[in-house]
Amino acid sequence: MASTTKTGETAPLQSRKFTPPVRKLTAGHSFPFPNPLVKSPGSSPQLLRKETSISVSTTFYPGAQLFPFPNKMGPCDVVLNSIPDSVYFYAHSDCLLRGSANSFNSLLPLSARRDQLASPGHHTIIDVPETADILNIVLHALYQIPAERYAPSLDTLSNVLPTLVRYGYNLDDIVSPGSEISRLILYHAHANPLRVYILAASYSIEHIAVAASRHVASIAAITEVEAIAMGSLYLHRLICLHLNRMEALKRILLVPPQGHPPPASRPCDGTDQKVRRAWALATAYLAWEARPIMPSIEIAQSLAPLLDHVQCIECKANLQHQISSVLNSWAHVKDTI
Ligand SMILES: [Zn+2]
Repeated sequence: MASTTKTGETAPLQSRKFTPPVRKLTAGHSFPFPNPLVKSPGSSPQLLRKETSISVSTTFYPGAQLFPFPNKMGPCDVVLNSIPDSVYFYAHSDCLLRGSANSFNSLLPLSARRDQLASPGHHTIIDVPETADILNIVLHALYQIPAERYAPSLDTLSNVLPTLVRYGYNLDDIVSPGSEISRLILYHAHANPLRVYILAASYSIEHIAVAASRHVASIAAITEVEAIAMGSLYLHRLICLHLNRMEALKRILLVPPQGHPPPASRPCDGTDQKVRRAWALATAYLAWEARPIMPSIEIAQSLAPLLDHVQCIECKANLQHQISSVLNSWAHVKDTI
């Protein structure tokens, strides 16, 4: 028996539950096996395979309801076989050709015998070099089927984009804002922002790069290889984002609390010097520790204790107002490229 059992990809977030993209079928299963099994053009002569069991996609199997309306594209006429792990994906050549600028990397359309081969029970097998986890997401993207249940890892998604390009698809169409692939990639933006940014930048996928840039904490550790991968434009934009936010935060912190007219009967002179000194010290520390994605809560926790040492009611109100102003201003500083 030459079957393969696949347990699914390894998602980076171990807590996520995912659905393996394949299941094993044995001869006699209700799903029809490809028969005869005809290799793709240019490959070895027709051979009947002797497997007694095969691994088949849990989504792209014979008779799967892949479209909103039954039989919208007719029965599947192609079986994509992922060579590294031998998983069969039953697909429609019309769907694979739709949007492909190179006829699915010159593997389609099928030969002139297509009509004959596409009769019930007959499928043309096309061997492809991708592993099942990559091919699975590629097909989900082409068929516009939600794939979140597979929880594809960032490694898998990093291979999906070049695969789509290799098969002639325009990423502007398939990885558009709100698309399935976009959602899957952006799921990783918080945990791996720089990798997601680099991935998006390397294919000029603007909306993903913008979203990921918000979470990139530091540019100090960007390696030469990463800089080359993201390209000079996106590297420059990321550097500018961080520099601009650092400058903005320092500028915001420079503004001291307002004074008030000196009252005649109270000890405060209207510019409580203790408040100003404490503010200068606290903000100098914050400016020293400033980070482009410094959380507002961290700023608030540094400045709020100053209120405990102010006696004058008006100075206290002004200090409270200035703290709120800092937080509000910081929240409105542009945080994406
Ligand atoms: Zn005062």
